[in-house]
Amino acid sequence: MWTEKAQAKINLTLDVLHKRPDGYHEVEMVMQTVDLSDHLTFTPVEQGEIVLSCTVPYIPLDSRNLVYQAAKLVKDTFGIKSGIRIHIDKRIPVAAGLAGGSSDAAATLRGLNQVWGLGQSLDQLAELGAKIGSDVPFCIYGGTAIARGRGEVITHLPKVAPTWVVLVKPPIAVSTADVYGRLDVAEIEKHPNTGAMVEALTTGDVRLISSHLGNVLEKVTFSMYPEVERLKSQLLKFGAVGALMSGSGPTVFALADKEHRATRIYNALRGFSREVYLCRFY
Ligand code: ATP
Repeated sequence: MWTEKAQAKINLTLDVLHKRPDGYHEVEMVMQTVDLSDHLTFTPVEQGEIVLSCTVPYIPLDSRNLVYQAAKLVKDTFGIKSGIRIHIDKRIPVAAGLAGGSSDAAATLRGLNQVWGLGQSLDQLAELGAKIGSDVPFCIYGGTAIARGRGEVITHLPKVAPTWVVLVKPPIAVSTADVYGRLDVAEIEKHPNTGAMVEALTTGDVRLISSHLGNVLEKVTFSMYPEVERLKSQLLKFGAVGALMSGSGPTVFALADKEHRATRIYNALRGFSREVYLCRFY
C-alpha cells in the first residue's frame, strides 16, 4: 500500500494574454500550493483493472475521474499488466477553482511511479500529466511557480514564507470552461503584474504580496455570481490583508500576516459559510 497527498492550489495572479489559434487562452499565472490536501491510497491488485473509491459520493469513479485517466495513461504508456485500487479521501472542495481533480491526477502519477517502480523524474511525470490537463504539471511539483502557455509550462520560483490563508467556498459550482467562454480578452481593464508579484514573493511581505494579487476572471465570475464578490468583501472587512478569487472560482481566499488574524477571519466566516478552511502556503 502507498499513500500520496494531493495539495490544493491557489492563484496569486491569473492573467490571460490572448486567445490562441487552437482555441485555448494563453495564460500567465503565479500558482501556490497550500496544505489542504486529498489523501490517495494505492493498493496493487493482480487483475488488470483500475478500481476507484472516494469519500465524496457524487464524484464519478469511471473514466470521467482524472485519477482514472492518470492511472490508465500510466498503464498504457508503460505496458503495465497488473491492476490498482485507488481510494480518494477527498478534503479539497470540488469544482472550486482549487485544482482538486488535477492535483489528484498528479498524485496518481507520482504514486504509481513509486508503486510500479517506473523510475520517472518529476519532469517526465509533468510531461505525461500535461496530456490529462493543463494544471496537472504544476500539481506534480507543487510549491510556488509561474504557469504559462495553457498553464502547463512551469517556471519554478523560490520557496515563499508559509503565509496564512483562509479559503472560503460558496455553495455553488462554477464551470471553468463557461467562465473562459465569457471572457473577452480585449475588455480586460487591468492585467496583474506577474513580475511585481514574483518580486514581492521573494520578500515574504504579506502586504506587498497582497498589493499585487490579481485575477482577470474575477469580473466574469462576479457578474455571474455576485455572492462571490460579496464574500471577497467580507474577507477584507474581517481583516484580510489581501483577498482574491482562485482560478475561475468560486473559492475566494484571504491572506493574513499573523496566525491570530487568520483565525479571526476563519471564525468570522464560519458564520456565513459551511466550507471555510484555514491553511498555509506549502
Ligand atoms: P480547476 O481549478 O482546475 O478548474 P476545480 O477545482 O475547479 O479545478 P475539480 O474539483 O478539479 O475542479 O473538479 C471539477 C469537475 O471534475 C467535477 O465536476 C468532478 O466531477 C470532475 N472530477 C473528475 N475527477 C475528479 C477528482 N479526482 N476530484 C474531483 N473532481 C473530479
